[in-house]
Amino acid sequence: MSTLSGSTEQVREKLLALRAEFRKRIDTIHAHARNPLEADSSEQAAQLGNIAVVSALEAEATTELAAVDAALARLDAGTYGRCAKCGEPISAGRLAARPASALCMGCKTD
Ligand SMILES: [Zn+2]
Repeated sequence: MSTLSGSTEQVREKLLALRAEFRKRIDTIHAHARNPLEADSSEQAAQLGNIAVVSALEAEATTELAAVDAALARLDAGTYGRCAKCGEPISAGRLAARPASALCMGCKTD
């Protein structure tokens, strides 16, 4: 049983590190977004373009953060590593590449 709890702790550490990384990324995005717009109108246009890109990055980071939180909840519930759709185990390789995966290769749509 020590092997199982050991690997669970490893997964938890990995997920917590990922969560910290995404939170930091979101904080960085917010810090940039707070910069005031330049007075010049062409500069403003460029900055508004940047804001659109930044918003997309923020949305992506927020989605990833939610996926990590959900994975941590599944870890606590004892359902981590099983596909949320079909209930089959998710391959170790897929979990290693993307620890927050909720779906197996067969069910994932992205
Ligand atoms: Zn599945």
